[in-house]
Amino acid sequence: MALCEICGVKSSRYVCQKCGRRICESCVNIYSWICSECYSKTEPQIIEEHKGIELPVKLFIIGFVTIFIGMMLIAFGSLILGAKVSGGIVIFPFIPVPIVFGFGSEAILMIIIAMLLILMIITIIKTIKF
Ligand SMILES: [Zn+2]
Ligand SMILES: [Zn+2]
Repeated sequence: MALCEICGVKSSRYVCQKCGRRICESCVNIYSWICSECYSKTEPQIIEEHKGIELPVKLFIIGFVTIFIGMMLIAFGSLILGAKVSGGIVIFPFIPVPIVFGFGSEAILMIIIAMLLILMIITIIKTIKF
């Protein structure tokens, strides 16, 4: 395996999105997927971006989408299970782990839905790339 082109010590696992160099997990900036060298060059710009409106908007969108999906799933669950489901709440406090309170015998179903939701959230986060 090729070695990291920044430190030359560890084996490369990532490719810098800016310069295209193959880099290791120690030399990659996980927030922007660029190498430490490119990161140090663009640092003031990145800090500005993170302080800007972009990140809270992204969090808001993710939160909103998650709550919406949760509501849809609860509605759908109630529909297919009829009166058996007395209620279900999906809480997403901006962490990638929704907490589910299932009532009645369908608690397991709600947990399964929550697990699917986690996968969806992870996918959304990966797509947006903080
Ligand atoms: Zn390295
Ligand atoms: Zn780079």
